[in-house]
Amino acid sequence: MRASLELPPVRVSHLSRNRLVQLRGLLVAETATQAARRAGHEALVAQLRGLTDADSVLERELAEAGAARAQVTVADVEQALERIGNGTYGWCERCDAPIPFERLEAIPSARLCVACPGLHAGWQL
Ligand SMILES: [Zn+2]
Repeated sequence: MRASLELPPVRVSHLSRNRLVQLRGLLVAETATQAARRAGHEALVAQLRGLTDADSVLERELAEAGAARAQVTVADVEQALERIGNGTYGWCERCDAPIPFERLEAIPSARLCVACPGLHAGWQL
C-alpha cells in the first residue's frame, strides 16, 4: 500500500539547512545562558529575602525582575525552536515576509521583520 501523498503544503524555507542549524545552535545556547542567568537572580533573591534595608530591598526587586525577564526570554527562544521544528521559523508573523538571515543571526528569536515594529523578543537582556 502506498503512503498518502496528501500532506499539508510545506513551505520551502528561505534559509539553508546549514543556516537553520546555525540559528538553532544559537537558540539552544541562549536557553542555557538565560537559564543560568535566571538561577543566579533567583539565588540572589533567596539570599536577600527577609532583609529590610533599602539597598537589599532594591537589589532583591532588581533580581526578581531579572529572573522574570530571563524566563520570558527562555519562552521566546523555546517558541523559536518550535517554529524551526514545524517549519514556520524565519517568516514575519505580521506581514509574512522572510526575515533576513543577518537579522535572525543577531536576534535568533525574532518574529518580525525589520519593517514591522513592536513585539520584538527581548533578546538583549
Ligand atoms: Zn513584517
